[in-house]
Amino acid sequence: MTERVRVYEVGPRDGLQNESVPIPTATKARFIDLLTEAGLREIEATSFVAPNAIPQLADADDLMRDLVRAPGVRYPVLVPNLRGFERAEAAGADAIAVFTATTDAFTTANIGMTVAESLAAFRPALDRAVSFGWWRRAYVSTAFGCPYTGRVGPARAVEVALSLLDLGVDEVCFGDTIGVGVPSQVAALTRQAVDAGIALDRMAFHFHDTRGTALANVSAGLDAGVRCFDASTGGTGGCPYAPGAAGNLATEDLVYLLDASGWESGVDLGGVLTAARFIADALGRPLTTKVGQAGGWDPATGASLRDL
Ligand code: MG
Repeated sequence: MTERVRVYEVGPRDGLQNESVPIPTATKARFIDLLTEAGLREIEATSFVAPNAIPQLADADDLMRDLVRAPGVRYPVLVPNLRGFERAEAAGADAIAVFTATTDAFTTANIGMTVAESLAAFRPALDRAVSFGWWRRAYVSTAFGCPYTGRVGPARAVEVALSLLDLGVDEVCFGDTIGVGVPSQVAALTRQAVDAGIALDRMAFHFHDTRGTALANVSAGLDAGVRCFDASTGGTGGCPYAPGAAGNLATEDLVYLLDASGWESGVDLGGVLTAARFIADALGRPLTTKVGQAGGWDPATGASLRDL
């Protein structure tokens, strides 16, 4: 039997939040529709942080109201605290993600709180999500390295993940925020997490391709037994810590690897490429991801499938 891998789409939220070209709400809703049509079943839609903190996502309330929710698709939204949770609830959300990191230096710069303070801020939001039966995910960013303090060992990432699981999250996602991790570190972190009692099906990875290691890291994660990986259609987002460099792993690059390796994701590469071209057009720039440029490939004929 073919094993299934979850592709968790972060383009509309993590991808767009760093993009400076303003995108109309209707365009974002259309992008999400195209992602749904491509077979993605988990699409992080937007963020309910303070509107002035991330102007690109200040339309979160309108977007969630406009969104046509397809059956069987989860549309999580990022919430920083109870206030964000209440806005998400009013807008009709039913799945949330919270965001912290391994180092106080990073969280202080990013969200104005220490790691411990961020956990305290999540608690009432997660308590309420638990009581509502909402799906709950938590990000552990800077899982391998921090732009302010350097290398991060697996013990610290696991420690933060355990605190989040104690708060009632369903899944922890380890993020390589600055794209410095390599496969041996992915293997070591997974092993240490499993040894600490974290089940493989409650773990995900969010790799950045800043230094070209994202797919190698996915491969290491698969070998280690992890079955959920984040990606951003069209590779949107860039890397705020390395201007001009890649950030999020592109969904089309991930789906090509999974398909060609025999993993079942339920995601259609042609549909992803359609959505990738759509968002690249909306941002007014060419699609620069690997598979976005080369297209898929037909092993029966040898032809490149640019027009999937
Ligand atoms: Mg990212």
